[in-house]
Amino acid sequence: MHREPGDPFVPVPALGRGGSSKARLCSVSEMSTEDVLRSLIREVPDWPAPGVSFKDITPLLADSTAFDSAVETLASHFVDREVTHVLGIEARGFVLAAPVALRLGAGFVPVRKPGKLPWRTRAQSYDLEYGADQLQIHTDAVVPGDRVLIVDDVLATGGTASAAVRLVESAGVELVGLGFLLELGFLGGAGRLPDGRHVSLLNYSS
Ligand code: AMP
Repeated sequence: MHREPGDPFVPVPALGRGGSSKARLCSVSEMSTEDVLRSLIREVPDWPAPGVSFKDITPLLADSTAFDSAVETLASHFVDREVTHVLGIEARGFVLAAPVALRLGAGFVPVRKPGKLPWRTRAQSYDLEYGADQLQIHTDAVVPGDRVLIVDDVLATGGTASAAVRLVESAGVELVGLGFLLELGFLGGAGRLPDGRHVSLLNYSS
């Protein structure tokens, strides 16, 4: 559903000031949580490259009720799974992974682009929807016996997430699952992930 400033649920006056969709959630009760989250994700055509429809989650993050709901719902899929660490993928993944980790009583571990982590790292290369890159994790961030959840904002082609899975596997730790705010289902990224272990709150078919 496309929304313009002034429509119900659009947090225009609240953006950047700790806004909340709570009042709007109550006043338009027929909207599901999924609909509200979807309405707060802005689609930016042809950014950062022609042909890419970028899913901008900053309006959702600026809405405290929607942000809280997204974190709570993601975490709810992994409670009682004895997650010890939540791995967040740079950079938007950090924003979701850290509060999910706190909800689960787990630690937070950053998975970063090359040259950003100060200590010894292990690395994994991967392809993007637009370009190629590498992920790194501190060699001592997780150790055998740990149980990890990988969190990122978007599952697109699955290159990033599958590289994170390989990092986890090379560290010899247990992968409990993967959690995403949204999945671009038409890109088939799920096919590159371990069967039945990922959760996406929203799925986009185009
Ligand atoms: P991929 O490796 O293709 O699954 O891409 C996933 C990563 O790239 C995530 O960390 C996203 O932040 C970012 N990403 C890829 N495509 C998009 C998109 N269309 N909109 C927003 N973020 C994207």
